[in-house]
Amino acid sequence: KLLVNRYLKGEIVGEGTYGIVNKAIDTKTGNIVAIKRIRIGEKKEGVNFTALREIKLLKELKDPNIIELIDCFPYKDSLHLVFEFMETDLEAVIKDKHIVLSPADTKSYAQMMLKGLAFCHKKWVLHRDMKPNNLLIGADGQLKLADFGLARMFGSPGRNFTHQVFARWYRAPELLFGSKHYGSAVDIWAAGCIFAELLTRRAFLQGSSDIDQLGKIFAALGTPKPSQWPDMAYLPDYVEYQYVAAPPLRTLLPMASDDALDLLSKMLTYDPKARITAQQALEHRYFSSLPAPTRPSQLPRPR
Ligand code: ADP
Repeated sequence: KLLVNRYLKGEIVGEGTYGIVNKAIDTKTGNIVAIKRIRIGEKKEGVNFTALREIKLLKELKDPNIIELIDCFPYKDSLHLVFEFMETDLEAVIKDKHIVLSPADTKSYAQMMLKGLAFCHKKWVLHRDMKPNNLLIGADGQLKLADFGLARMFGSPGRNFTHQVFARWYRAPELLFGSKHYGSAVDIWAAGCIFAELLTRRAFLQGSSDIDQLGKIFAALGTPKPSQWPDMAYLPDYVEYQYVAAPPLRTLLPMASDDALDLLSKMLTYDPKARITAQQALEHRYFSSLPAPTRPSQLPRPR
């Protein structure tokens, strides 16, 4: 049967926080798509704001490194969001033991991730949930930021976000200290963690609780000195930690080039105001020095 006279519904490909995702054929274009079904709440308030937010944001975000929202429609008790179908995600690539990532491959994935971020930050949109399984990879090898379900506009006065949104391992230190006025720098921190994970094939900072997450960050990068991050002591959940000196980053990532380590250290800078931006990161010499990033169509992918 045809959904809204257009989509031929196929198998279930996944289940997310908000609902089931099906594969489908768009009979209008012949393209394979993913349809995400979001239950419109049982609550009498009716409208699912998370869904509406996601729709409004995505419609305005069109970029080769952002997942495209093709269509959306209500059907039965659910809102249906139609996205371009994506073959796999970065988590699957990182975890696949048969895949060898060359320095050029890692550079290509890092560049696509930062291009997507630079685009949404330019439009004043935060992703807020950057992690490898939210970075989808298309049949053409392009990496695209997905799952803007938690994203929200920022830049308006009185912004005040909840901080418990990020998958813990990718959470920036200002979020762990309870910052409520954070900005695009939280996405850069997460992108830095993902970059390190691409280099080592292992999640970089694996905290088992929020407190432990800070401990893992400090053990890897040293406890931040007030001179490094002047606003730190004023954050709501700030507590003083026993001083730990930073080991050279090189010891944690022996395989990384000097350029890669320099960029990584700038993405994992404690003070969010001093942290590199996505646009600045793209202009870093890591991306202009050899090897050139692998063309997306040439990237290794899980079979
Ligand atoms: P969550 O809300 O838990 O972050 P999603 O609802 O975005 O997850 O997606 C759930 C699952 O559906 C994903 O893990 C993935 O396997 C699949 N999926 C989501 N979007 C797509 C897509 N565009 N193409 C193919 N599979 C997708």
